[in-house]
Order: sequence, then structure tokens, then C-alpha cells
Amino acid sequence: MKTRTPVLALLLCSIFCLGLFNSASGMAENTIADRESIYQVALLQSLAQGHFDGMVTVGELKAHGDTGIGTFEGVNGEMIVLDGVVYQAIYDGSIVTPPDSETIPFSNVTFFETDVSLPLTGIADMAALQEQLNAVVNEHGANLFYMVKIAGTFSDIKVRSEYKQEKPYRNLDVALAADQVEFDFENISGTMVGLYCPSFMGGLNSIGWHFHFITEDLTRGGHVLQVNIDNAVASFDSTPGFTLALPDDNTDFQSMDLSLNMDEAIHRAETATLSDAAAETDKQE
Ligand SMILES: [Zn+2]
Repeated sequence: MKTRTPVLALLLCSIFCLGLFNSASGMAENTIADRESIYQVALLQSLAQGHFDGMVTVGELKAHGDTGIGTFEGVNGEMIVLDGVVYQAIYDGSIVTPPDSETIPFSNVTFFETDVSLPLTGIADMAALQEQLNAVVNEHGANLFYMVKIAGTFSDIKVRSEYKQEKPYRNLDVALAADQVEFDFENISGTMVGLYCPSFMGGLNSIGWHFHFITEDLTRGGHVLQVNIDNAVASFDSTPGFTLALPDDNTDFQSMDLSLNMDEAIHRAETATLSDAAAETDKQE
């Protein structure tokens, strides 16, 4: 049976919660504390090492957040969670809505409440976008988590999805180099959902930003590789809590060496385009 156990709940900033201890009942305290937490399923490091077995269901995930990103059993497409709906951008770039029984090997979600907004105009690329977002992060605290929604019009956006993997699973970067599929959308409206992880998250996730995208008509999407924003508004939810769910009955997971440094492979998996992968192969030949 697939189960999960939340093993770690860090409340990194207690000011909000301390206020609740004074006034609210225990139930309200838990409910509101959970809403101010990033819920993470497994580790990006376990996904990078090819642990693609799902362990939390879509139904369970929705109890921990209404906004976020992730993937599905077998890395069967890219997950976008928006307004409480879990969307699956599959290998052909189209969106399906998975059943609540579908399982998830890696994800981050939270209940989204806008703390600060930032208008974005004429953002030429990912570096320029991250520079603008980081200015807000640095002002409000770089050692918190942030979920961000960037809604607007995009002059260009390159996203990817991938074919579902079969066992024995390869490492994520190897699987993507073989089975990644890319899509370019021009002059399209939609929403990017992004997660910012602070610098101390290097062993559990990746530091900095990770974005997925879904079109306004909810028909196309994927993991964002390149972006050019015409006009949009970024809404930030700064989040001081962190909850990690690990599989408690999965021998594959328990036998993994999670002290291995997967930084380079994770960077490749998150950023490499098909042309990057082709250039890398040419270099090796
Ligand atoms: Zn992604």
C-alpha cells in the first residue's frame, strides 16, 4: 500500500503562529498554520535519481494546497495546480485533469494568499524575470519560501513536457534528454506558477525559482524553459512553514543514497532545451 508520513514540519517564522497561540483554538491554529506552509512530496534529489513512484494521491495533495507545481507517477507530464485544480500537461503539451487516485512522486503546493504584487512589462528572458522577482524576495526576506503566480500575456514562452517513463527508471536528466518534448507559444495569455526555495533547501529541492505554465484557456502547458513577458502581474505568497512527506514503506526510496550531490543533474533537468542536449552530445562525440 502506498502511504506517506509527514516527517518534518518546520515553522521557520513563528511570529504569525505566536499570535494565534494567544487567541485561536487549537483547531484554528493548525488550519491556519497549514495554510502558511509549503507542502512538499519527497525530494527533488530522489526524483533526480529516478525515484518516479507516486506516493501521495492527487486527492491527498489537494488537502495541502490549491496552488503549486510537480509531476506524476513515471514523470508522466508536468503538474500545474491553480485555484484548487490539479492540471497535467502531458507529452503532447495538452492539458488533462487527472483523477484523484493518480499518484505523485514529487510536488510543492500551498494555499495561496497574495501578500504582495508586482507589475511586469517587457521582460526579455528568464534572467530578467528572476532579477525582478528577486528584488521583491530580497525586500521581504530571502530565507522564506514564496509561491508566485504570474498572470498576463506572453510574447514568447517555451515549455516542455515528456513521455511517461517505464521501469527500470533512468535518472531524471537522462530520461528528459531522451524523452523531453518542447512547445513554443507566441502572444498567448496564461499563468506561470512558480516556487522560490531559499538557499538552505539545496539538499531537499533546488535553490531559487522553478516555473510551470498553463494557458488562460487551460488547454496547453508545461515546465517553463524560456520566457518573454509582454505584460503581467506577479502575485507573491510568502510562506514561512515547510512540511515534508516521505514514503515510509518504499524499499527503493529507503535504499537511495540521498547524500549524493545531484546539483548539476538537477540544473540540467530544469533548464536544458533539446538544442542544449544536442550540443552536449556533439561535444562528447
Ligand atoms: Zn518543472
